[in-house]
Amino acid sequence: MLAMQLPGAGDRLVAVERAMPTPAFHEILLQVRACGVCRTDLHIVDGELPAVRRPIVPGHEIVGTIVSTGEGAQRFAIGQRIGVPWLGGSCGRCRYCGGWRENLCDHAIFTGYHRDGGYAEYVTADERYCFALPDSYDDLHAAPLLCAGLIGYRAYSIADTNAGDRIGLYGFGAAAHIVAQAAVAQDRRVYAFTRPGDDRSQQFARELGAEWAGDSATEPPAQLDAALLFAPVGALIPLALRSVRKGGVVVCAGIHMSDIPSFAYSLLWGERVVRSVANLTRADGDAFFALAAQYPIRTHVTPFALDAANEALEALRSGAFDGAAVLLPSA
Ligand SMILES: [Zn+2]
Ligand SMILES: [Zn+2]
Repeated sequence: MLAMQLPGAGDRLVAVERAMPTPAFHEILLQVRACGVCRTDLHIVDGELPAVRRPIVPGHEIVGTIVSTGEGAQRFAIGQRIGVPWLGGSCGRCRYCGGWRENLCDHAIFTGYHRDGGYAEYVTADERYCFALPDSYDDLHAAPLLCAGLIGYRAYSIADTNAGDRIGLYGFGAAAHIVAQAAVAQDRRVYAFTRPGDDRSQQFARELGAEWAGDSATEPPAQLDAALLFAPVGALIPLALRSVRKGGVVVCAGIHMSDIPSFAYSLLWGERVVRSVANLTRADGDAFFALAAQYPIRTHVTPFALDAANEALEALRSGAFDGAAVLLPSA
């Protein structure tokens, strides 16, 4: 099979012929139909996350159909279409797994990071961490739901416990364009913040129902109840704090962020909260896919052929498209 493999940090991905993987205990072998390109993949390629395995095949927004099953795998049927997310395994024994917070597991296995991911024609996955996908999404449009959608949803649902309907989204890329639609469908008011001068993304946000869109350095017309940060830019934290009301929350949803500059305590005063959101739980996935089945979310996708994975990553880095990039092995 063809796979796009990362030899080491800072390298380009290399197309390699590999032996077909064999599904182990509780695993399934999938033919990859589509695999989304996530900003986390860029962090892995650039070496901004510690190298845990080299070479590695990235990709953790996988839509595939089941070709064969390993011993003990019986959740899904051969031929069924399923999704493989970032959380590919957890220990089931640590304090976090025991407390419904498997996203924080001390021994979590992440797809496309600890184990080979979906930048390939075939991949294996632990079926216990996979999701059935709503039929209303085709392969191409379902792929971004598996990380941008899922992690965006976890950030959104955590902010939502804070009560209030004004949600700010900083960085209007793959995650924000999905969260915005879910939030609007649930009668929230969305305020979209982009890089200064990014008129195209601001227009895109308005088309998806944002009440207001503007530069991240400007203040919104109303105080926010919550701000979700999807851009990996630490300098956005004081800006977001300035825009949230007392008791409001700033949720950082990315796995990596540049350093946070110092800021006046008065920005945090008034019981404002800054917190991160890490990974996902299977319960997040169940809740999110139920929502995605109920409210049709139009994911905006830019398809690339599998062997054009480097070009897709560069396009993501430079902000060359709205929405999400998706690799198609059959293209
Ligand atoms: Zn654990
Ligand atoms: Zn991701």
